[in-house]
Amino acid sequence: MIYFDNAASTAPLKEVIEAMNETYKTAWANPSSIHTEGQRARVAIENARDKVAEVLSAKSSEIFFTSSATEAINLMIPLIVESNQIQNIITSHTEHPAILKTLQSLKNINIQYVKLDKNGEVELAHLDEVLSNNSKKTLVALMHANNEIGNLLPIKKVVEICKKHQALFFCDMVQTIGKYKVDLEKLQVDFAVASAHKFHGPKGNGILYIKSGKKYAPLLLGGSQERNMRSGTENISGIVGTAKALEEFEKHFEDRSKHIENLKKYCVKKLIENFPEVSFNGTSQNGGLYNLINFSLPLKNISRQAIDMKFDMAGIAISQGSACSSGVNQLSEIVKIVHGEKSNAIRVSLSFDNKIEEIDKFIEVIKTKFMNIN
Ligand code: PLP
Repeated sequence: MIYFDNAASTAPLKEVIEAMNETYKTAWANPSSIHTEGQRARVAIENARDKVAEVLSAKSSEIFFTSSATEAINLMIPLIVESNQIQNIITSHTEHPAILKTLQSLKNINIQYVKLDKNGEVELAHLDEVLSNNSKKTLVALMHANNEIGNLLPIKKVVEICKKHQALFFCDMVQTIGKYKVDLEKLQVDFAVASAHKFHGPKGNGILYIKSGKKYAPLLLGGSQERNMRSGTENISGIVGTAKALEEFEKHFEDRSKHIENLKKYCVKKLIENFPEVSFNGTSQNGGLYNLINFSLPLKNISRQAIDMKFDMAGIAISQGSACSSGVNQLSEIVKIVHGEKSNAIRVSLSFDNKIEEIDKFIEVIKTKFMNIN
């Protein structure tokens, strides 16, 4: 099977599986217990936290482990709102549902949506203007990279604008942490989230970053784990696997990212050469995430699910956007916003495991199974 759905999830690395298996065997006791077995588990967690902090250029005390990015978003945003007397939130229509639904569930908060340009990029001048016209305590919640079309937010500029207006900034970095070198200390975002299964780590493991100096009430109540932030006996193996995945990312970043970038360039070139009618969604033709392409073809009378299934039958795992909306015969919001009502939007999201021959096969499948070119 050719796997081109790495924005939905990535295969766990063998190093990650080995580290997790080892942890299940040797560090399985309750990390809160004071005996030697418990302390072995505690050390495994704290070493993992130190590694995550090191890779992300953060302090260990700024890193919290959660069960997913979704959990971190759902639990943290209401806490930020309450602790900082936030009255106003600025976001965009193209955030992940974990952000949008959490924001929509908040009571007595004014939510404003920043304008997007024709490619779906945040209009920074509009963000600045909305913040200027606002005297209330504000939180800005924007994603670093869009999971469907791969647009990248100019994060440093957003931080500058937020600082100028004393707004807090929550950044969903699920599609960039573990793919780009990120220096959280330099970036100066106030809050960030990541998800291990997007960077070849285990599923059900999220990272929450809270810039130091900020105190928050617990996300979950109970036995006071995660320095009283998230109670519940820790997922030791998952945490160790998360750190291992980031360690491997750092070790191989140069080679692997270069390889993926070359694959993307090759795929874009082949799509244009073979299908002059192709159109690219967002900035993915020659910008955005280096591992993602989102494009449309004039395919008539074929539903979204039928496109995914046809690729699947030809041995290619692909999706037309976020996994959360798979199975829904509707175009995603972001593609509608950026390119209107097209009949399809095909997302190719690559990893270091992919090969040039797989792109060739993909082009061949589009030719023969979708475009009837023989
Ligand atoms: N934010 C973005 C941009 C995502 O792509 C995803 C996963 O698809 C999430 C948040 C949710 O992450 P998790 O699977 O850890 O809940």
